[in-house]
Amino acid sequence: MKTLLEERLKALGLENTAHQLDGFVESASSNNISYFEFLNQVIEAEWTYKESQLLAKRVSQAKFPYVKNLADFDFSLQPSISEQRVKEILTCRYIGNGENCILLGPPGVGKTHLAIGFGVEALTKGYSVRFITADDFMAQCKISDSRNTLHYLIKRLSKPDVLIIDEIGYFPFDELAANTFFQIVSKRYEKGSMILTSNKSYIEWGHVFGDDILATAILDRLLHHSVTFNIKGESYRMKEKKKAGIFPANHLTT
Ligand code: ADP
Ligand code: MG
Repeated sequence: MKTLLEERLKALGLENTAHQLDGFVESASSNNISYFEFLNQVIEAEWTYKESQLLAKRVSQAKFPYVKNLADFDFSLQPSISEQRVKEILTCRYIGNGENCILLGPPGVGKTHLAIGFGVEALTKGYSVRFITADDFMAQCKISDSRNTLHYLIKRLSKPDVLIIDEIGYFPFDELAANTFFQIVSKRYEKGSMILTSNKSYIEWGHVFGDDILATAILDRLLHHSVTFNIKGESYRMKEKKKAGIFPANHLTT
């Protein structure tokens, strides 16, 4: 009977229940719980399992380079970041308001970590998220342009509730990427949120986009409803190395 039950549970898509059947039954009999409570526990566990499976799938669809949580972020090491403002971002109200979040700062200060953490939180709250690096964005623009499918790329990147573009400024955008970026920013304006990270201050964005007027038009839309985190300080990686004694403490300090 048990094998048939397990098979049927699996056929119904209740894998977690099928796998944990013995445990559920044993725990119910040793804790002497009511039939109602038993059924509730089984369904609750299956529900939680399904939710975590679904979240894992959505996290993978967001295409993060790796998954980081805000719980792993040590705010005491980064006094230039207001934990209060980070908490406000974690409420995801900015998404409902179509606001942007921009993380600026030198390499290694946690911009990508925070951007991924914000993205994961948005996914947990049911929003759709897509992560792409500026470099990959540029490459996708080129491919789409050569296939005459640029409008699909613009549509695809205009759709998610949150679009994260990481590492703006490491390489300047070519003309095609700069124009495409402008179109996406315009399409998303007041409708969808963007999380951007950059090692360049806004003043330098003219150089990043190869055109001061275009950069001004982009910043005008981006910054109208936005939160900027200006992160200062030295690279976390360097701090770790110094702690491990790989570099003398006064070396490589910015
Ligand atoms: P950035 O994008 O600013 O160059 P990253 O987010 O890639 O920096 O951070 C570099 C590494 O250091 C990552 O592994 C990240 O998780 C870690 N890191 C940076 N800042 C912190 C912090 N305050 N607490 C914990 N880990 C951190
Ligand atoms: Mg980064």
